[in-house]
Amino acid sequence: MTERRAFAITQAMTIAERLASVRERIARAAERAGRGTEAVTLVAVSKRKPAGDIAAALDAGCRDFGENYVQELVDKASEMSEREGLRWHFIGHLQRNKVKILLGVPQLVLLHGVDSPRLIAELDKRASRPMEVLLQVELGGEASKSGCQPGELGALLEAVDRAERVAACGLMCMPPPGDPEAARPFFAELRQLRDAHGGSERLPHLSMGMSHDFEVAIEEGATIVRVGSAIFGPRAG
Ligand SMILES: *Cc1c(COP(=O)(O)O)cnc(C)c1O
Repeated sequence: MTERRAFAITQAMTIAERLASVRERIARAAERAGRGTEAVTLVAVSKRKPAGDIAAALDAGCRDFGENYVQELVDKASEMSEREGLRWHFIGHLQRNKVKILLGVPQLVLLHGVDSPRLIAELDKRASRPMEVLLQVELGGEASKSGCQPGELGALLEAVDRAERVAACGLMCMPPPGDPEAARPFFAELRQLRDAHGGSERLPHLSMGMSHDFEVAIEEGATIVRVGSAIFGPRAG
């Protein structure tokens, strides 16, 4: 099937249908990796999509949603506050001056992009409950402006150890855009980095893989995949 034809078919599908198809692909990738499908959490990335789309995914059984802008997450969380069981993930780059407003969201369960000791200290200062975070590592150079260097991970883990209310439960990465196989070495590198820093006992989660490469990420050990357009359709702008 050509890419354009695959795209046209995906566009005609409903959110529930696309979600079912993503779940099916997650299950098959997990099976190839010798793991159960329950070993992988799907975070539906709803950025720049309206609350109605989130409601549709929620009705289709999705519980975890990811946003990369603080204000957008806060607004949607407030709009959806009547809906039970919804869990918010912040997946963007968090500025310290936005920590307070973000932590005010009651259903916020995980911060994916924590990348500096100063941010960890700020989170610890502002948190009124225990907060779980993933430490973002920049692999592959110029791709993103966020993430610590692999060599800085030890210092980040020490900052977490000093914190009273912040706990690190894993690592996150966002490889440079490219075809899925090009991302495989980066996913493998994140897993090896985790293994070098206490292994899955200390850092059970690897948040890696997006719409175009989540299957490869799962084969390489992802426990959390962040999937947007494959569920909600292409984003405008
Ligand atoms: C937008 C985004 C995603 C999802 O991207 P898709 O390609 O739409 O699946 C995943 N992770 C982060 C950090 C993002 O900003």
